[in-house]
Amino acid sequence: MMLQTLTLADGQQIPYQLSLRPRRTVGLKITQDGLVVHAPKRIVVHQLNQILQEKSTWILNKLALREANTVTPVCWQAGENMLFLGQDITLQVIESKGKSKIMLVGNILNVVVKDAHNLTLVGKKVMQWYQQEAYDDFVRRVEIFATKLGVTPPLVKLSNAQSRWGSCNSLGQVRLNWRLIQATPQVINYVVCHELAHLKEMNHSARFYAVLAQLFPNYDNAEKQLKQLSPQLHRL
Ligand SMILES: [Zn+2]
Repeated sequence: MMLQTLTLADGQQIPYQLSLRPRRTVGLKITQDGLVVHAPKRIVVHQLNQILQEKSTWILNKLALREANTVTPVCWQAGENMLFLGQDITLQVIESKGKSKIMLVGNILNVVVKDAHNLTLVGKKVMQWYQQEAYDDFVRRVEIFATKLGVTPPLVKLSNAQSRWGSCNSLGQVRLNWRLIQATPQVINYVVCHELAHLKEMNHSARFYAVLAQLFPNYDNAEKQLKQLSPQLHRL
């Protein structure tokens, strides 16, 4: 492997690993370390360069996607950035002898604790806050869309599942993953509507999607957004 740099027409520089191999074509892949190029051993530099220029849109898109999916763990210190209803919010930790509390003011999440160095405690407070906000928000949305669908608003429970965003059981209870409160209202509405549509159709048949489309016409787009956002939402 050799470290090379690709310079695009607009001057942007993209570092890449070049690996020369006994092969006929140029292959590109994006790994954790960035762009890796596999090229034939006898390829001429300007020829390789031309191929990479032609593929630059693909390369830039894939690199942007990788960046978006790179998730850094939360460390519960002041200045930490988090997501709430699709917006960036910043954690502010305030030390006070009084009662601990937490409130969102603008895009600053103020956490008042006795010991700002107790990161576990700060983390616990923030997670509790997210779950309370999630519950209140989801109940409100479920009420609105259940009315629209013409059904009695079901009982809402929060879930902590690692892989599912929502579920609906035969008792008509809806479970929604509290992590969704980090997503945009559009994405939350989609998951709410998906689960509510199951109150009419307990399957994923064409009939189910017809009910969903009536309740939430743009579900396709929201589903894609949720998939893209998923690694970010699992940061907490
Ligand atoms: Zn479903």
